[in-house]
Amino acid sequence: MTTDMPYAEVIGDPIAQSKSPLIHKFWLDRLGIKADYRACHVAASELADYIAQRSADPAWRGCNVTIPHKIAIMDLVNDPGGVREKIGAMNTIFRQEDGSLTGTNTDAAGFLAPIADADWAGKRAVIIGAGGAARAVIFALKQAGIADITIVARNGLKASGLLMQSSVKGSVLPMDARLPTVDILINASPLGMMGKPPLELDLDPLPDDALVYDLVYAPLETGLLKAAKQRELEIVDGLDMLIGQAALAFELFFGATPPLEDDAELRKLLLA
Ligand code: NAP
Repeated sequence: MTTDMPYAEVIGDPIAQSKSPLIHKFWLDRLGIKADYRACHVAASELADYIAQRSADPAWRGCNVTIPHKIAIMDLVNDPGGVREKIGAMNTIFRQEDGSLTGTNTDAAGFLAPIADADWAGKRAVIIGAGGAARAVIFALKQAGIADITIVARNGLKASGLLMQSSVKGSVLPMDARLPTVDILINASPLGMMGKPPLELDLDPLPDDALVYDLVYAPLETGLLKAAKQRELEIVDGLDMLIGQAALAFELFFGATPPLEDDAELRKLLLA
């Protein structure tokens, strides 16, 4: 597709569930920028063709990348920031002025934004899941100074590989293990998401000042967050990260800072 109006996209398979078009269109509208942002279904076998075709269209500013392309995309774009080595997954591709394509990962900074005021140096974390989101979370936690990370995963080998790559001190536990006593617990798996099995965890081992962060945002209040609230633990839901990672991508696509003062309104729209 060739069009004169600048546009960006989110690509994945499936893609209909993506909230990214709603977020980016909300900001484009608020800022009066004449551009578009849309969802594009791209199957794994179509990824290389998609990138080749879009890179020939100067109106295309780039794309957000979701399941299952976050790893495969790294072979198709430039990586001046060393994202492959540091995180091992990309979620944003943007066009440089010379037309070349650069890949980056805004999930890590988007994840950290809502908890950045706390001091995480020397603290302990548990992460559920060992996929693309977990990679970004580990990188972000490492940058924040976390001392020890336990990954709870069904695929222990994959989780051990992630830990080794990150060179953070830590361990791997199976899904049914008792949780260790940690300062922050993060769900980076789809468990608890609409249409997926619930995440069943006994939160008793967590201290009263622990924080529970669920990356899942549909539903916004997951079973995990409900259980954490019952324990009166501090919680962070997945919408903050969703908006945070999108804001960084928006700047790369459209060269403008999103009006973050309208966040409350955007959250309402996303929940409607
Ligand atoms: P992913 O790459 O597919 O990884 C998912 C991880 O969860 C994998 O380690 C997978 O295990 C594990 N998992 C899946 N089903 C499981 C089950 N039934 N039991 C145990 N483990 C299971 O996905 P992702 O990109 O990391 O995304 C994970 C979640 O985070 C999704 O719900 C996504 O929507 C959310 N997310 C939210 C944001 C946000 O901005 N809020 C951003 C990124 C992702 P295997 O390794 O064995 O397959």
